[in-house]
Amino acid sequence: MRWGSGRRSDNVEDRRGLSFPGGYAGGGIGVVVIALIAMFFGVDPRVILDGAGQLGGSSGQQQAAPTDPAQDRLKDFVSVVLADTEDTWTDVFRRGGSQYVAPRLVLFSGAVQSACGRAGAAVGPFYCPGDQQVYIDLDFYRMLEQRFGAPGDFAQAYVIAHEVGHHVQNLLGISEKVRAGSHRGGPEHANQLSVRQELQADCFAGLWANHSNRSRKILEVGDVEEGLNAAAAIGDDRLQKKGLGYVAPESFTHGSSEQRVRWFKRGLDSGELKACDTFAASRL
Ligand SMILES: [Zn+2]
Repeated sequence: MRWGSGRRSDNVEDRRGLSFPGGYAGGGIGVVVIALIAMFFGVDPRVILDGAGQLGGSSGQQQAAPTDPAQDRLKDFVSVVLADTEDTWTDVFRRGGSQYVAPRLVLFSGAVQSACGRAGAAVGPFYCPGDQQVYIDLDFYRMLEQRFGAPGDFAQAYVIAHEVGHHVQNLLGISEKVRAGSHRGGPEHANQLSVRQELQADCFAGLWANHSNRSRKILEVGDVEEGLNAAAAIGDDRLQKKGLGYVAPESFTHGSSEQRVRWFKRGLDSGELKACDTFAASRL
């Protein structure tokens, strides 16, 4: 990916190295256990996380942020990708006659407090509609590369663009409809809605790449393959085959590898919002 000269976003908040009082293990493990239970019962874990806790006023003491050069470079990269999603979605919203309100992105290490509850160690990237923030532990990228076999900067960008896709869904009122709809049917119905929501976020990630490449020529040879490989690597079927060695709100009911690849590609090829209507699709 050509990203070095890209604009840096002002919406990145670095909470790495931040600890909060009382430790995180209790809340973190509690949420993880609830998420696991939710998984067995087919409930979208995000619904649980949505009600799992409240944001405390004080989030603890600031410690020196880690100065790992590789992580600092990643932070820089994340900031460029986020800025790029801001430019893309601002443009898309403007053309649709509305205004895009950018999300904030919180970098954390180990554990983090969000309006959706306290997320413990080994939680994958997630979006919290309650505070309109994307959360990511940069260690996830190492996991993506080593554990899921999905290396490359474009794979990393796809992860951010997917989470920003959830923010777009929130702005468009789609997340709220899914939440309301999930409560009306049984667990299977809720799962189906969740899969459609996740595949749409994949499609939105593809749409971002399309726009970004058209206006800023970010793609290099092999990038698209990296993105598709990452989408396949975190499909539900693959993840479950791997035995769910970690727990992440993002890892459940997201669609198969094949579906994730196809919807990402649909957004990437078309660049059109209407191509991403997974809720109207008769076949996912
Ligand atoms: Zn997602």
